[in-house]
Amino acid sequence: MISPSATGVYAGLGAAAAAGLAWGAFSYASLWPASRMFGEALIAPPRPGELALTFDDGPNANWTSRLLDELARHDVHATFFLLGSRAEAEPDLVRRIASAGHAIGNHSWSHPNLARARAGVVREELARTKAALEQITGKPVKFFRPPFGARRPAVFRIARAMGLEPVLWNAMTDDWSELSAARIADALAKKIDRLHQRGRAANIVLHDGGHLDANTNREPSVMASMLLIDRYKSTYRFVTLDAWS
Ligand SMILES: [Zn+2]
Repeated sequence: MISPSATGVYAGLGAAAAAGLAWGAFSYASLWPASRMFGEALIAPPRPGELALTFDDGPNANWTSRLLDELARHDVHATFFLLGSRAEAEPDLVRRIASAGHAIGNHSWSHPNLARARAGVVREELARTKAALEQITGKPVKFFRPPFGARRPAVFRIARAMGLEPVLWNAMTDDWSELSAARIADALAKKIDRLHQRGRAANIVLHDGGHLDANTNREPSVMASMLLIDRYKSTYRFVTLDAWS
């Protein structure tokens, strides 16, 4: 990974320090959503006033169904990045997501860090999930979001070869650990408003499931989504990722 000239630049630091610097930059870029070092991904177009709610790590028996009720009540469509293993356990919920008109994406089978996985494992994680989701819904799956946002060039290449468009995000907060829906919504609203000033649409990540616990409590994330809908429904257009692809 270190070219001869880069080695020259870092010669004074010693080989170990040079490798550490290069690896640090590589790891950082592999987790940074807007980094393009690892290939193009769909984030959000220059369309201020458009907002995509996306939900990762479901389906979750308790909270995905509640979320679907609330989205239906507001007539808002969202995008769900599902784990294949959870989808297999909750096929009725997956069918409900699809039949309500929400978009469904692939979030791998078991939520590993794909930046560190062998190509064969990446392929298996994506292909197995794609097949399960398509078998359950009867519809093609077009989108893929890497667990933790972690990727390397091979991960996106493998996804594209399967007809999956890689997706990242531009607005996230720690909704998986924050207990206050109001604080989650406020943190995201600040990012949404900043994106609007910069002329960008907002691609928001929230979590209706949890990769460590299938029944994790997602009430704060679900309620935060409703606060965001209340706050922006008269000024923004809520879209699924199909609108941007
Ligand atoms: Zn995830």
